[in-house]
Amino acid sequence: MSARTSVVDVEFCGRDEALAGQVTVAHLSLLREAVAKADGSLSYEIVPLRFGGKPAVRVSLRGRLWHTCQRCLGDLEAEMSAQRILVFASPPRDFEDEGENTDFVGADASFDVSALVQEEALLSLPMAPCHQQGQCRADVPG
Ligand SMILES: [Zn+2]
Repeated sequence: MSARTSVVDVEFCGRDEALAGQVTVAHLSLLREAVAKADGSLSYEIVPLRFGGKPAVRVSLRGRLWHTCQRCLGDLEAEMSAQRILVFASPPRDFEDEGENTDFVGADASFDVSALVQEEALLSLPMAPCHQQGQCRADVPG
């Protein structure tokens, strides 16, 4: 993580400049506690856009995380990728469903980049990570 602090807020949405970089899992204290190993890093991209005419950003994450297999309790490295749109506005009254990957936040909200990356990563953690069939020690007799 660079020393430069970047804030994602409504002002950022108005810029024509995406933000991209990498943050190590070890740097994200809550995520580090939620995964089996602090190894690895996440690549992120935060792109300003308009959503229904409102200022918004698209947050994309990609990386590899270590989990504990729920069947054999062994280490399990898994690819993760996640994407979410954050809209800096109150939801319109006629808006029925935010959709799974769209969140409305207040127009005055502001987020630290690493906090945003961490929250998105936590939201996309698998509920019950397991090795694929044939790769799990629980599948091997003895
Ligand atoms: Zn397993």
